Amino acid sequence: MARSLVTIDLAAIRHNARVLAERIAPAELWAVVKADGYGHGAGDVGGAALDGGASVLCVASVGEGIELRKALAQPRILVLGPTGDDELAHACDAALELVALDERVPEDVPVHVKLDTGMGRWGLSEFEVPGRSVVGVMTHLATADTDAGFAAWQLERFRQATEPYAERYVRHAAASAAALTIPESQLDAARCGIALYGIDPFGEDPARFGLRPALRWESEVAQVRRLAPGESTGYGRRFVATEETWIGIVPVGYADGFRRDLTGTNVVVDGRRAPVVGTISMDALAVRLEGPAEPGAVVTLVGDGVTLEEHARVADTIAYELACGIRAAPGRGRTRVIDG
Ligand SMILES: *Cc1c(COP(=O)(O)O)cnc(C)c1O
Repeated sequence: MARSLVTIDLAAIRHNARVLAERIAPAELWAVVKADGYGHGAGDVGGAALDGGASVLCVASVGEGIELRKALAQPRILVLGPTGDDELAHACDAALELVALDERVPEDVPVHVKLDTGMGRWGLSEFEVPGRSVVGVMTHLATADTDAGFAAWQLERFRQATEPYAERYVRHAAASAAALTIPESQLDAARCGIALYGIDPFGEDPARFGLRPALRWESEVAQVRRLAPGESTGYGRRFVATEETWIGIVPVGYADGFRRDLTGTNVVVDGRRAPVVGTISMDALAVRLEGPAEPGAVVTLVGDGVTLEEHARVADTIAYELACGIRAAPGRGRTRVIDG
């Protein structure tokens, strides 16, 4: 057992891609694999998403696009974020498609013009008559997961600005939350990230959309301690035993992506839920056991019913942030890729 073992199931990615592609058809599914596939591995996830019916892969930067191109020679790759002037030639060599976020529209690569319809971030506020390299026009919704009314208003603005060009350019606006719940947002394509990984964009239960989590994270109980009343575990003595308490020490901490604000969340030890107690250290955390136990028990940090959505609620964040923070690289852990 590695001290930190992440397992990525490509069959789940393929399944989720199929579910999404069917749900949004005839709109195309574009798979978002930025941030190394939300921590799942961009190359493997990208391949599985294409197998499941995605037609384009999206990344955040030219650097990510170049890396992904090394793994996947064929697919269209769209860079969603800004491109520096010094990156243009490299983007061209790697056959990437780019997004124009302001008036500067690159010439020799396919370009998608981004309109800012209410996100207040990247994009043009007016749609100018675009240059000859333009193949698409897009926007991004600020509240698809929280305020359907504002999302509908943004979509209406986008529709009005781009209607005359509907035949000429591919139009795309939806990410996962909108693609799953706002049919009018699907247009010609939807750029889905989080749902592809089997994570609910609303932080609830992905099963309600037929999605399956693709990531499992395990470690083990490396040491078992008995605390007498008054004894504590970890920095700051944040957990002090009030009665005889059995504690398992797990060699995973915030440096591995198990954040400090996850104290109080549950993991699974030997098939049973167990709370994380005390301060999470850089390389270790403590779980409260039901009684005496031997070291070596498997600890499921994500999986066996414990979800990233659930951890995110405890940490007062979103599952996206937790997923891309998990690190199980050689030296500290291992990531293995399975298929089914
Ligand atoms: C990250 C991103 C997406 C994917 O969002 P999800 O909520 O993960 O589906 C779509 N479009 C843009 C522009 C993005 O930056």
